[in-house]
Amino acid sequence: MGLPDDTPFGIAVVGLDGRVERVNPPLCALLGREQQDLVGSRLDELLEIAEGDGLAPRECTWERPDGTTGWGLSTTRREGDHFVSQVLDVTAQRRAAEELRAANDGYRWMIEQGRDGVWVFDHDDRTVSVSESLAHMLGREPADMLGHPPHAFTDAEGGAMLDDALERRRAGVRETYELKWVHRDGHEVWGLVSASPLTDERGRFAGSFALITDITERRQTEDRLARYARQQEEIARLGRLALEGLALPALFEEATGCVAEVLGAEEAVLVPAPFEASPQAVSVRVAGRDHHGTLAVRRGDGWEPAPDELTFLSAVANTLAAAIERAEAEAEMRRRALHDPLTGLPNRTLVLDRLAHALAAHGRRAGTHAVVLLDIDQFKVVNDSLGHEAGDQLLLAVAPRLVAAVRPGDTVGRLGGDEFVVVCEGVADATGAATLAARLVNAFAEPFVLVGEQHHLTASVGIALAETGTEAPGDLLRNADAAMYLAKERGRGRFETFDEELRARMLERVSIERDLREAVARDQLTLDFQPIVALADGVVEGLEALVRWRHPERGLVPPDRFIGVAEDAGLIGAIGAWVLREACGHAAGWQRLRPLTLHVNLSPRQVTDPALPRLVAETLEATGLPAEALVLEITESSLMEEGTVGPAVLRELKALGVGLVLDDFGTGWSSLSRLRHFPITGLKVDRSFVAELEGGTDTSGLIVAGIVQMSHALGLDSVAEGIETEAQADRLRELGCRRAQGYRFARPMDAEAARRLLEAAAPLPALV
Ligand code: C2E
Ligand code: CA
Ligand code: CA
Repeated sequence: MGLPDDTPFGIAVVGLDGRVERVNPPLCALLGREQQDLVGSRLDELLEIAEGDGLAPRECTWERPDGTTGWGLSTTRREGDHFVSQVLDVTAQRRAAEELRAANDGYRWMIEQGRDGVWVFDHDDRTVSVSESLAHMLGREPADMLGHPPHAFTDAEGGAMLDDALERRRAGVRETYELKWVHRDGHEVWGLVSASPLTDERGRFAGSFALITDITERRQTEDRLARYARQQEEIARLGRLALEGLALPALFEEATGCVAEVLGAEEAVLVPAPFEASPQAVSVRVAGRDHHGTLAVRRGDGWEPAPDELTFLSAVANTLAAAIERAEAEAEMRRRALHDPLTGLPNRTLVLDRLAHALAAHGRRAGTHAVVLLDIDQFKVVNDSLGHEAGDQLLLAVAPRLVAAVRPGDTVGRLGGDEFVVVCEGVADATGAATLAARLVNAFAEPFVLVGEQHHLTASVGIALAETGTEAPGDLLRNADAAMYLAKERGRGRFETFDEELRARMLERVSIERDLREAVARDQLTLDFQPIVALADGVVEGLEALVRWRHPERGLVPPDRFIGVAEDAGLIGAIGAWVLREACGHAAGWQRLRPLTLHVNLSPRQVTDPALPRLVAETLEATGLPAEALVLEITESSLMEEGTVGPAVLRELKALGVGLVLDDFGTGWSSLSRLRHFPITGLKVDRSFVAELEGGTDTSGLIVAGIVQMSHALGLDSVAEGIETEAQADRLRELGCRRAQGYRFARPMDAEAARRLLEAAAPLPALV
């Protein structure tokens, strides 16, 4: 930053150690030295500054290298790590004042030169004599002034001072003071008045004598310095307010108010860009990195701003520009903290915040707000098969579709992953929310173009309504989530609304989770076993272990009701280990009765646990069950959705010699052709296909036939499950399926019943 030189002020920037860091040319001239001589010197060795405090100008003196001395007025203010000192040279005025004082003291009254003048009044304070120089000082001719009291040449304020002064003259007081006179053309003239009473020969008051020195320049300099100090003070104050984070509108008001006051203007306004001020106003641009607007000042009286006033105006404008840009930076930081970087949509934090505000604002009105959660079906598959970039591309394409599907006041946000949320304020009722949800589902009707190809995708949507107005935002989000999962359960590409039934299910889940923590320890879990038979002759070849929970109050809880809870609650590891151990223990004993395979179900969470192979190996060893007698049933999702860990664990398991069967085959996403990539030994045809087996030309028949043929081709074992009728069994035999399981042959039974069945060694369903 350079220091200004188009100013009468000498300016020095001084470090906290008192050493000069920078000076401007006027200061060099004033001190009679070169800039390089000054930098590094101590300011207090160059200038002797009188003691004083505050921002008022202080006297200072200096000596130049050539021996001459100077006298001036200086101000110092602190700016961060520096002091800025300003010095005004008023040596000439000072000399004049000294001479005047000498003249006054020594009654050298007849000095009639330069800016001094003599004025004599009679007993009644009327002008009896005035020097030409004094008359000219006031823009008059001496003759015009004769007979007039001094009051005629000042204003009311000056008049009052004169009354007092003349009173003192009558009392014999001799004194020097400053007074403001008014020039004929209206401008002010400051005079240093040295006045004495005149007495007649008997010592009685006869009039007054005054020597007056024009000190207008000095007064103006002092005024300017005071004004300058005031300007600095105001700029510092505005800067402080801006730093303290005063809101911009309040800061603008503060700034325009202060500008108007400091500059004595009628009006100061801040006009936003791109307006450029009208020629009637004095204006500066409020600009930093950008042009933000114009600070315009209007003052009548043909005002031409002084350089310091323009500097002041620019400083205010710069302060405002800095404040605006800082506010913008903060807004941007806030925006980033509250928005998803990929789509630019509000993130979870902001969505929850909006929701909280909406709930607080209309808390009492029931059903006013809805939270709608949307999850892209099979997003994981897109990510895994087409790559993350395609996944991002998809999210970027989804966002604007959702925004287009909602009403203008609704908030569309991204919660993370492939989950989006819409906060609707003021939906009339459940129907209104359902209409919106349907539009969101429909937003997926058009295919998406990813990596140059069209992809047809769907989304599942869950709705939660703020019904009591007292819901917490997090609860609403959870409810919408539960409804969304229901939509997935019921076939995806649809929406569901959170209702009493879901609430009951969630509550049940909570209490189930609590009780489940105790279940293993309290011996409440038991196993049933369901036979797997050869379709040809009904001979029992295997048993599938199915876990049950004997709840002290609920009675027998089926696995569908608690396995999911156990997975979410992190309890599946303990339960799974118990099942494996218990089932293997029984099956090891039954091996003596008949060679058979034990099927044990694993949840996806278990399959991603790298410790699983060791657990299986240890269990086999502990129970004595041969590895080839154990078949682990896993779901397709273990292969498809759990990333890369699953297959690695599966290969280790297979290496142990245990069988791996894909359960519920055909319901997941996997294609037959991909099966070859997985280390499995068999398939279980899902019972939904079996249930649909009717006559001879149904599509389920085609699918089952395809699965069976493919599994044979790949050397995989295939089991059809859920056979309830003999017709289904017949059809499966026709289709080439070798083994089956279902109520037609045997229901799941406890271990004791299973043992008796094996002892009897009779083919099923003979014993049913
Ligand atoms: P899943 O593995 O598909 O087990 C077969 C389910 O179908 C069993 O239900 C069985 O009782 C039922 N089922 C058998 N034959 C028929 C039939 O002819 N018709 C009909 N409608 N159903 C039949 P269950 O025992 O209620 O088990 C439900 C699910 O719970 C199982 O489905 C399995 O996914 C899971 N599960 C059971 N035990 C365990 C376990 O120990 N660990 C894990 N992770 N999951 C288990
Ligand atoms: Ca199973
Ligand atoms: Ca199954």
